[in-house]
Amino acid sequence: MIEDKNPQRTSISQLGEFGLIEHLTKNFEINQSSTLKGIGDDAAVLDFKDKKVVVSTDIMVEGVHFDLAYMPLKHLGYKAVVSNVSDICAMNAKATQITVSIAVSNRFPLEALEELFHGITLAANEYKIDVIGGDTTSSQKGLIISITVLGEADEEEIVYRNGAKSTDLLVVTGDIGAAYMGLQVLEREKQVFQVNPNSQPDLELYTYLIERQLKPEARADVRTLLHALEIKPTAMIDISDGLSSEIIHICKQSKVGCNLYEDKLPLDPQFINVCEEFDIDSTTVAINGGEDYELLFTIPIDDFDKIKGNPNFSIIGHMTEESEGIHLVTRANTKIPLKARGWNALSE
Ligand code: ADP
Ligand code: MG
Repeated sequence: MIEDKNPQRTSISQLGEFGLIEHLTKNFEINQSSTLKGIGDDAAVLDFKDKKVVVSTDIMVEGVHFDLAYMPLKHLGYKAVVSNVSDICAMNAKATQITVSIAVSNRFPLEALEELFHGITLAANEYKIDVIGGDTTSSQKGLIISITVLGEADEEEIVYRNGAKSTDLLVVTGDIGAAYMGLQVLEREKQVFQVNPNSQPDLELYTYLIERQLKPEARADVRTLLHALEIKPTAMIDISDGLSSEIIHICKQSKVGCNLYEDKLPLDPQFINVCEEFDIDSTTVAINGGEDYELLFTIPIDDFDKIKGNPNFSIIGHMTEESEGIHLVTRANTKIPLKARGWNALSE
């Protein structure tokens, strides 16, 4: 389905390990003042002065977390950075540096790795983070990419998952569910392509959904938006596994319950249309689909006036006493217990 626009194939063994690393990393620039030494020595050197340092790491395995049949390598590189930056945003911190480690089989030519690193470079520029190191090795089969991200914040800015109070409001940024439906569209096209390799997919009706799947963005802007509104969330998490599972994480760690309102879920019109086309319940996808990389957080009820009507945020529910449990309140006003099904549940 994804055309090979890069017919040139240079074997990575031609460059050798050091030649390959040098080739892939030569264009990375250093922009953060906290980076004293980036790539090129035995270790990077950082200086965060009086800031606290937040660190997170993720690993992505071909065939498990991504399928190169519909995920171009450039997008994979971009998304791998975004998913890491998103974790730093979810701490209300600012991402500053990443390290990038890859294991590749010799099935990948140099041009493929250039694409991957092009995506990484684009994301590093977009989020103004320095690539300060990594590791490069071979794998027997497939591609593995692991990114570690560092970020900084003042101690009192950092937001954990465990600070929600039973009287807080539950807020989400942007809209949800679209990344999952984008994946459904891409998987359908992959199957069509397997039957008829000459088919030309017309994806115009799905552009937003596909973009949400292939080129998601981390909500690095939210830290600034909330700061300007003088709001500090009491608990926060990013939506990587799905809304219901993230709500349950906050509730469990904060020892509170929650009522989530079906009619308040922020859904894009294209998302609603495509759910109808696929005959899937949009609420089910919105609460169980993953990879939206929006932020979910709780705020004191007294901050309601500061956030109401703001187009960046939707108030989707409120926290309760732990003993009341965690529920979805449907449009028909019935209460259904929320389950952390994650997005695998959707394919059951
Ligand atoms: P070492 O032998 O100490 O592991 P390497 O030869 O693996 O060092 O790496 C040389 C330099 O290139 C180091 O600064 C390392 O962090 C960096 N590097 C290696 N692989 C990558 C990669 N995939 N992305 C970014 N930097 C990398
Ligand atoms: Mg090494």
